[in-house]
Amino acid sequence: MRIDVATLFPEMFDCLSYGVIGRAIENKLISVNAENIRDHTADKHGKCDDTPFGGGAGMVMTPQPIHDTINALDPDRKALRIYMSPKGKTLDQKTVLRLAQREWILILCGNYEGVDQRVIDEDIDEEISVGDYVLTGGELPAMVLINAVARYVKGVLGSDRSTDEESFSDGLLEYPQYTRPRNFLGKEVPEVLLSGDHAAIAKWRREKQLEITRLRRPDLLEK
Ligand code: SAM
Repeated sequence: MRIDVATLFPEMFDCLSYGVIGRAIENKLISVNAENIRDHTADKHGKCDDTPFGGGAGMVMTPQPIHDTINALDPDRKALRIYMSPKGKTLDQKTVLRLAQREWILILCGNYEGVDQRVIDEDIDEEISVGDYVLTGGELPAMVLINAVARYVKGVLGSDRSTDEESFSDGLLEYPQYTRPRNFLGKEVPEVLLSGDHAAIAKWRREKQLEITRLRRPDLLEK
C-alpha cells in the first residue's frame, strides 16, 4: 500500500520507522512518503498561511501550496485523498477496514486554524476526524490513521488471528489477557485459562467480552 502525506512537518513522520509499522515499511508492505507543503509554495518567502478573510483569530493555510503538493504527488487523481479534520467523520473500525483495501491513500494535514475551503472542495475526497477534540495539527491524526490502517494490510501483523480476536473486530471489546507468571502480587490467573480446555476458554472469553462491553460500551451492544 502506498501512503503519501502532505504536511508542513514531514520530520514528524520519522517516528513511523519504529515497531510493527517500521518493519512493514522496511519489508515494503507499505510505503510512507511525507511531502513538505512548503517545498511547493510559489511565495518567495516560503509562506504557506495568511490571515482569515472576514477576520478572526489565527492563520489559515493558503490553497496554492497544498493544491500543488497534492497534484505533484497524485497528478492523475488515482489516490484516495483524505483531509484530517475535526469536522470529518469520526474514524472507526469500519472506516479503517475500508481504507485498508485501497492501494494508495494521500493524507493532507492541516495546521493553524485549518485549510482554505476551496482546496478541500477541489482536491479532497473525504474528511476524517480522530475524535471530538481539537489538536494543533493533522500530523498526529494522520499517524493514528496510518497505524490503524497498516495493521490490516496483508503481512503487516504476524498472524491474521491478531486482528480477528481483538476489540471491535466482532463489535465487542476484547476479553482480559494474561501471561506469566501465574501468580503476580498474590493475584492468580483465572483457572480456566490454564485448563487446556479450548471450548471452556472460548466460552469464558466470550462471557468476559460481553461483560466488559456491557459495562464500558453498551452502545456497541445496541449496534
Ligand atoms: N479551526 C479548526 C476547527 O475549529 O475545526 C481546527 C483547526 S486545528 C487547530 C488544525 C488542524 O489540526 C486541522 O486543520 C486538522 O488538520 C488537525 N486536527 C485537529 N483536530 C483534529 C481531529 N480531531 N481530527 C483530525 N484532525 C484534526
